[in-house]
Amino acid sequence: MRKLMLEIVTPEKLVVGQEVDIVIAPGVMGEFGVLEGHIPFLSGIEPGELRFTSEDKTDYYVVTYGFAEISNNKVSILVDAAEKADKIDVQRAQRALERAKERLGKDRSSEGIDFLRAESALKRAAARIAVAGKIR
Ligand code: ATP
Repeated sequence: MRKLMLEIVTPEKLVVGQEVDIVIAPGVMGEFGVLEGHIPFLSGIEPGELRFTSEDKTDYYVVTYGFAEISNNKVSILVDAAEKADKIDVQRAQRALERAKERLGKDRSSEGIDFLRAESALKRAAARIAVAGKIR
């Protein structure tokens, strides 16, 4: 049987590079799944859970912002950050969440607060906490 290749790449490293049976990824339009033989496809990626199954074993990751490209039975996930669920530092993510909430709680007219940046940080932290919680 032909297989599907998955690569998860960050600016730091190749996080995953292996053959898989199915990938489920958090696209900007919602979660999408990819099996062998998928048509070429491009999507933005938002913070959330990415999981893939290979030989009846499912691995869970959190990914942040980036893109997914599917072509020739290869799924390339290019994201700012990706961590395996059991490598997520939950306390760090909780601190990031609190910081982001505090910033977002300020008056929208306050100077020196980048609300878009704080919203992105909040989404990253919330995704990390959710994915870590699933496997613990
Ligand atoms: P923080 O404010 O805690 O740095 P962040 O959302 O700004 O959080 P990112 O910019 O998404 O962090 O990631 C920077 C680097 O730190 C990446 O390599 C990412 O994999 C890693 N990282 C960030 N948060 C965590 C975490 N909670 N657990 C494990 N690795 C993390």
